[in-house]
Amino acid sequence: MQIGVLALQGDFREHRQVLEELGTSTCPVRRPGDLSEVDGLVIPGGESTAISKLLRKWDLFKLIQSQVRGGLPVFGTCAGLILLANELQDGPPTLELLDITVERNSYGRQIESFESRLEVTDELTDEVFHGVFIRAPRVKRVGPGVKVLARYGEDPVLLRQENVLVATFHPELTEEKGIHEYFLREVVGKSSGACYSMGD
Ligand code: GLN
Repeated sequence: MQIGVLALQGDFREHRQVLEELGTSTCPVRRPGDLSEVDGLVIPGGESTAISKLLRKWDLFKLIQSQVRGGLPVFGTCAGLILLANELQDGPPTLELLDITVERNSYGRQIESFESRLEVTDELTDEVFHGVFIRAPRVKRVGPGVKVLARYGEDPVLLRQENVLVATFHPELTEEKGIHEYFLREVVGKSSGACYSMGD
């Protein structure tokens, strides 16, 4: 199994390190051909406007869209979540692969970055997670097909819709590896292994 980590901007190195520590081989994704050998894709945190621009510049935007629609498992954190959302209150074009509405930089200047213990729902109950939030987005609307896996107060912070897993925080920046393990086991592991179309 090989997981591609989108490496255009942001903290892709940290995601690769966590996945490699879990014994998974990874490769950077910078150009369309890099996607042909991957069983799953991570879209890291960073700056969503920059990543959105680079995705279009390097012809990855439509390709990722069609592959994820075809079943490719994807895990987006922070800016990655923003880029996967169907609807953004203000921001760059998104891939529209997950039925949520998102507001960027939603926790205000005074607490731009913070760490908190998270309320975890059923599928992840045997573990305690801490979320590192950095100029984090807030999920304002959750569509009917989307499952909330963890909350910070009332806010959904870890969500899944079939092959799309997203977090508003940065699981790659803590020692806990449970969320990456969940992605590998439940999202990548249970996908059909279908051949994802290369799109147009
Ligand atoms: N605020 C950033 C954005 O809008 C996301 C921050 C992050 O990924 N840590 O893209």
